[in-house]
Amino acid sequence: MKKIPKLQIEKILQIALDTPLNQFFDYLWRGEELPKVGQFALLTFGRREMVGLIVDVKSDSEVPRDKLKSIIAIRDQLPVVSSEWIDLCRFAAEYYQRPLGEVALPSIPKNCRALKTTALDKALKKEFRKPLVAHIDQEKNEPPQLNAAQQLAVQEIVEAEGYTATLLFGVTGSGKTEVYLQVAAQLLARNSSAQILILVPEINLTPQLQGNLQTRFPELIIAVLHSGMSEGDRTRHWLAAHSGKARLILGTRLAILASLPTLKLIIVDEEHDPSYKQQDGLRYSARDLAIWRAKQLNIPVVLGSATPSLETWQHTNSRRYSKLCLPNRAVNSAVLPAMRLIDLAKDKAQYGLTSALMSALKSRLQKGEQSLLYLNRRGYAPVLACEACGWMSNCTRCSSNLVLHKSESKSGHRLRCHHCSFELPIPQSCPTCGNADIQPLGRGTQRIEEHLHLIFPEARISRIDADSTRLKGSAQAAFETVHRGEVDILIGTQMVAKGHDFKNLTLVGIINPDSALFTQDFRASERLFAQLMQVSGRAGRAAQKEGVSPSEVFIQTRYPQHPLYQTLKNHDYPRFAQECLKERQQADLPPFIFQALLRAEAKELHMAIAFLKQAATIDMPEDIFVHDPIPMSLMKMANLERAQLLIESRSRTSLQTFLKKWLPQLSNFKPRISWSLEVDPVDI
Ligand code: ADP
Ligand code: ZN
Ligand code: ZN
Repeated sequence: MKKIPKLQIEKILQIALDTPLNQFFDYLWRGEELPKVGQFALLTFGRREMVGLIVDVKSDSEVPRDKLKSIIAIRDQLPVVSSEWIDLCRFAAEYYQRPLGEVALPSIPKNCRALKTTALDKALKKEFRKPLVAHIDQEKNEPPQLNAAQQLAVQEIVEAEGYTATLLFGVTGSGKTEVYLQVAAQLLARNSSAQILILVPEINLTPQLQGNLQTRFPELIIAVLHSGMSEGDRTRHWLAAHSGKARLILGTRLAILASLPTLKLIIVDEEHDPSYKQQDGLRYSARDLAIWRAKQLNIPVVLGSATPSLETWQHTNSRRYSKLCLPNRAVNSAVLPAMRLIDLAKDKAQYGLTSALMSALKSRLQKGEQSLLYLNRRGYAPVLACEACGWMSNCTRCSSNLVLHKSESKSGHRLRCHHCSFELPIPQSCPTCGNADIQPLGRGTQRIEEHLHLIFPEARISRIDADSTRLKGSAQAAFETVHRGEVDILIGTQMVAKGHDFKNLTLVGIINPDSALFTQDFRASERLFAQLMQVSGRAGRAAQKEGVSPSEVFIQTRYPQHPLYQTLKNHDYPRFAQECLKERQQADLPPFIFQALLRAEAKELHMAIAFLKQAATIDMPEDIFVHDPIPMSLMKMANLERAQLLIESRSRTSLQTFLKKWLPQLSNFKPRISWSLEVDPVDI
C-alpha cells in the first residue's frame, strides 16, 4: 500500500540572530512538523550560514513571500529553551538596548549553535559525569550547628513565599556560605526537581564552593558555569543545567543567563562586587538581572555581602528588600581583626613596608602564622623614569604608563601597557637623553615580593595576581598551597581579597590604598571601603587559640584621619553607607538618579566630542538631563581617543523610553564613528 504523504505546513518563523543589525528576521518554514518557539534553526543570513533562535511562529510577514529565505534545518536534538528564558533575554536586551539575538545566542554554548552538530551530539550522548571534586574539606562533611543569627536567616529565607529579595548582611567570616548551604539543603529536600543558582564574583572562588557543595550534596549533580571553561566542558555543564539534571548551578556573572527550567532560588554572593557588571558588549549587571529573574519566576533571591552596594543598601532602607544580619563571626571565639592605621608620615616605609608592619610580619613568621599583603597593582613598578630629563615610560597608544614587568631572565623584562597589551623590551638607557640610569618608580606586587625575599629569606612567599596565574588551573593550585599552610606570606591584588576562607591567617597588611581616596569617580570610595573590608576579613577567621596572635590589619596611609579609614577602623559599614548615601542624595547621584553613558571613540578627540554634541542636541524630554561631553578619564586607548556623554533622569522609565527613541537616531549621524551605550554605568 502506498503511503499518503503528510501535509506540508507553511509558516513564518521569527528568528533572533547574533548580529547588531536588527531585532528579528523572518524565515519561511515548509515541512511536516511545525517548529517550536525556543528551538534553534540553521539558516543562511546574507552569504553566511548561521544558527538562530526561533522566538515566534506566525502566519504572516511584512516581507513578501518570494523574498523570504527558507530554514535549512531545525536543531531538534537540543531541548527547547523556555519562553521564560526568552523573556529574560528579551528584558535584558531591551533594558541594555541591544538586539535580543545578541543576548540570547552568546549565552548558550558555541557547540549548541555551531554549524556542525558533531560536538553537540557527542555532548548529548555522554551521560553527565559528576565534576571531580576540586577541594574537599574533610571537616565539613557534617553541617555545623548554626548560631542563632544563622538559624533565623535560614528560616526566613526558606519560609519566604514567592518573590522576595533579601540582603544577607553578614560581617566577613559570619558564615554566609553555611546559610546558603542549609537553605539549599531544605529547599532541595522539599522540592525534588528544584534548581538553585549560586553566583560568585570570580572564577577562582568556584573551586572552594564547589568542593563544599559536592561534599554536602554528594548525590546531586552540580553544574559550573564560568568563562574559564573549555567549550566541551561548558557544553556539558550547560546541558546539565538546561535539562534540569543539575540541581545546583554555580557560576560567575554569565550564569545568570543560563537556561534553568526549574529554578527555585537565586543566591548572589558578594553582591557588591563590581565584576557582576559586564564591561563590554551587553553591559549587564548580573545582580540586577538576578532580581528581575526572581521576580519573573516568583522565587526568592538572596544577596549576600559584608559591604553591600549602596544601591542594595538603599533598597533595604526603603524596605524593597528585606535585611537579615549576621553580626558576628561564625566560628566560636573568632573575632574581627583589630585595625591599625599606620601613619606614613611618622613611620617611613622602607621597601614599601613600615617598621610596624615589618615587625608584625616577623612575629607571625616566628609563630608559624600566615600573613597577607594586599596591593592592588600588579607588575614590578607602575612606571620607569629618567631623573635627568623627566622621561617616563608612557604607552604611545594609550594615555597611560607602560608598567615594568620582570621575568626570570633579564632579557625577558618588559614594559607592558595594561590597557592595550602593547609591549617593549626595557631600554638600556633613556630614549630621550641617553642617561643610563633609568629607575623604576613606585611598587607593584612583583617588587614587594622581591623585597620580601630579601628581608625574610627564610619565609615561604607566594604572589597571586593576574600575572602569576596565567596558566589554567594555576590560581587554584596557588590558593591550595595557602590553604595547606605551605605559604607564610601571601602577596596579591584584589584576587586574594575576596571570599577565601584562609584558616591560619592572622595578619593583613594593606600597602598603598590612598590613591583611590582622591579620584573623580564618585564610586571610588565605596569600592575602596568594600575592598579593604573584604581583604581585612581574610584575617582571624579561625578560633582564637592560646599562643596564636590576635588578628590584625595594618593600613599604611598618609591620611589616617580620613573619615573612610576611621569608619573602616570600627568595621562600621552601616555608618559608612549612611554617610555616602547622604552625600549621594545631596549631589543627585545614583542610587537617587538613573544614568546612561554614551561613549564615542575616534582617531581624534574632537570627532568623538562632535559626535556626542550632535547626540546631545536632539530634542530632550524635560525629565532627561544631559551633561556636556567630556574626554574619558583614560582618554586615549589603543590609538583611539574617547569621550563620553552622561544622561540622567530621576525616573528609570523615562530614561528607558528616551533611550529607545534616541539610539536609532545616532546610527544615522555622519561621519560614522564607533560608539556604545551603557545603562547604569559603574565606571564614569
Ligand atoms: P562568610 O562567607 O560570611 O565570610 P564563611 O561562610 O566562609 O563566612 O564562614 C567562615 C567560617 O566559619 C568557615 O570556616 C565556616 O566553615 C565556619 N562556620 C560557618 N558557620 C558556622 C557555625 N555555625 N559554627 C561553626 N563554624 C561555622
Ligand atoms: Zn632622560
Ligand atoms: Zn596602551
